Amino acid sequence: MPSLIIKPRARLYHGHEWVYATDIAKVNGTPQPGDVVELMNARDRALGSAIYNPHSQIVARRFSRRKQDLDADFFLRRIERARDYRDSLGLAEPVHRLVWSEADGLPGVVIDRYGDRFVLQTLTLAMDQRKNLIADALETLFSPKTIIERNDAPIRKAESLPQVTGILRGEVPAPFEIEVAGIRQIVDLGEGQKTGIYLDQLDNYRAVARRSAGKRVLDCFCNQGGFALHAAKVGAVSVTAVDSSDAAIAATTANAQLNGLVQTVNAVSENAFDFLKNAEARHAEAGFPPEGVYDLIVLDPPSFTRSRKNLGDALRGYKEIHLRALKLLSRDGFLATFCCSHHVNREEFLQIICEASVDARRGIRLVESHGQRLDHPVLPTLPETEYLKGFTFQAVPGW
Ligand code: SAH
Repeated sequence: MPSLIIKPRARLYHGHEWVYATDIAKVNGTPQPGDVVELMNARDRALGSAIYNPHSQIVARRFSRRKQDLDADFFLRRIERARDYRDSLGLAEPVHRLVWSEADGLPGVVIDRYGDRFVLQTLTLAMDQRKNLIADALETLFSPKTIIERNDAPIRKAESLPQVTGILRGEVPAPFEIEVAGIRQIVDLGEGQKTGIYLDQLDNYRAVARRSAGKRVLDCFCNQGGFALHAAKVGAVSVTAVDSSDAAIAATTANAQLNGLVQTVNAVSENAFDFLKNAEARHAEAGFPPEGVYDLIVLDPPSFTRSRKNLGDALRGYKEIHLRALKLLSRDGFLATFCCSHHVNREEFLQIICEASVDARRGIRLVESHGQRLDHPVLPTLPETEYLKGFTFQAVPGW
């Protein structure tokens, strides 16, 4: 097997699983893109097996601390282990992320499960080359009705992989209805954003809903209305849900109908920046009365940046929406805010909110912290496995 000699001081020696070009002292043999390579230290001690792609910034990703091939048996065992972990979480419905990339020992493999329907993403070259083995393992373990490939994630470009979607096994997926946490939703695995619905947020819908009864709620960047519908269901007096995608707003409205919540949920197709700006202008005209415009505001924007390079613009975007949202809150209103960017960590995100709080002259207290659901496990030695962070704040009256 070809091998890479890893320089001392590489992150790999500190529990990380990635190898950059600058970490490599020497390449032994002629590994081809997508091959398995062995990692060694300078004294020829084996460090494990990795997938190799010299065209990616991350040249190798370790997937085992032992010598290991990517064969049918390997995929079967890894997916079985991932399934056992989800089973141990006692998830009420079989709607969850079954495999979360490195956190499940399968770098670049993401599998979401909707009962007997599975959605696969292979975001690394080596895993993409072996997607049929992965589909075979899913067939053996779950006898799925369908396995869909949603390989239209832009991140694939980093591995020089094309954007593709399609059916790997089974039937053409028609939109279907599921019930998750008491809310009925239509899921379109072929056409919807990402791999269907945002499974990482499921626990946070409930957390935010706990504060929503009797409130005027604003859900910004609502997609199919996850937060909005849960808030309406527990008795919010009004819910405004905003998204710039017409398809997302149509889905939110359809979901509101399905759950008998059309009286409460008002879905608006608009850029959330404009929506907040206009709402703030109207509120300013009224002299910023203390009852505010909303009692609970949710901000769950997309990642504003795909690279560390554009971080400045992204941070300005985050700050603007927080500033405006805080100004719209009632005296003791709640702000539940989320950040799914890999490039903004928890501390940086908190810092932006602090700045917005000072500029908006609205004091806030932290009442709850949020993260991605446990079926998107986080490896502390590989911080990149954590991407979703969130906080609920309450406005402190009298500031
Ligand atoms: N809260 C949602 C997930 C949000 S994903 C849920 O729990 O399901 C981010 C959403 O922001 C997407 O639906 C996308 O269409 C929307 N979006 C992106 N840019 C936007 C903008 N400038 N204004 C409003 N919505 C935007």
